[in-house]
Amino acid sequence: MIARKFRMCVTLSSLLLASLTARADLVVLQYHHISDATPPSTSTSASLFQAQLDLISELGIDVVDLHDATTNLLSDNPPAQQNIALTFDDAYESVYSVAADMLQERDLPYTIFVDTKAVGNHGYMTWEQLQELANREGVSIANHSAGHGHMARKPGEPQSHWEKRITRSLDSAQAALQKQLGTDLPLFAYPYGEFDEALEAEISERGWFGFGQQSGAIGPLSGKTRLPRYPMANAYGQLNGLKDKLTSKAFPIDTNTLPDGIMDTNPPVLTLPLAEGMKPARLTCFASGMGRIDFDVSGDQISVQAPKPFNSRRFRYNCTHPAEDGSFYWLSQQWLDLSQPED
Ligand SMILES: [Zn+2]
Repeated sequence: MIARKFRMCVTLSSLLLASLTARADLVVLQYHHISDATPPSTSTSASLFQAQLDLISELGIDVVDLHDATTNLLSDNPPAQQNIALTFDDAYESVYSVAADMLQERDLPYTIFVDTKAVGNHGYMTWEQLQELANREGVSIANHSAGHGHMARKPGEPQSHWEKRITRSLDSAQAALQKQLGTDLPLFAYPYGEFDEALEAEISERGWFGFGQQSGAIGPLSGKTRLPRYPMANAYGQLNGLKDKLTSKAFPIDTNTLPDGIMDTNPPVLTLPLAEGMKPARLTCFASGMGRIDFDVSGDQISVQAPKPFNSRRFRYNCTHPAEDGSFYWLSQQWLDLSQPED
């Protein structure tokens, strides 16, 4: 037992020491529709998608399988090279009709997160189309719930009701993927990117990885049930600034130590430890809809709080700090105000 504890400490401290030296992380991009005809807030135009793939190729960053890359990165021996993984939420029809051929031409792997209840509905892929893609090299299909509900426990929702609701949704989606496609991957994308600690515990118990919609890269210290992805809809995926995202590195802190994001005070306070070598003067923080915001420094900690309350269900604090090689350490803390209406 002592020996095991000692080994764990050594592993952790070597990770911490490595944090500001040579770093290569995993950047996961999150898409919905690839189309010019679908709602702009969740769509990436075909031409922008093409240009994004071109940039990835110009930068020489490998596009890799999400499950393998996440597993490798969070192992004791993370890879030395920056990698990118592509994900598509909800299994919209345009992924089949527009994106799939572009990706196949370039031989790129990707993952589709499926709301199994929506399969076959207008605008969504059918099981036959999903099967066809699943048969292609490098395409994986994974769980995005059955029914796309808001899965954090609702205010006033009895614990037993919540547990039943969540378990049913996770189990029935996983069973449908198994039955229809013969696939059983330990990957889950939270609907709307919403989660709380109890839902993370459920995902963790199953041994699954949980992916959110807060931005940032995945690093060796990232929490397995709150893995970030960069939203790539038109508003966020434009080419100016894209290189900074594609080459970004995870903020070198254990993100399990951060809040789960369920907001208690408005505006919320985020306290962050600054890794050795990070300088407050080089740190920049932003809040959704408010632009750049100030933060307080106390010793090797900073605390970030927006200057005024938020009035939306989900919002974020994003902080970046330059790394030595011209890239950025990137952290996004999502907040979820459960008193605001569901979308
Ligand atoms: Zn979704």
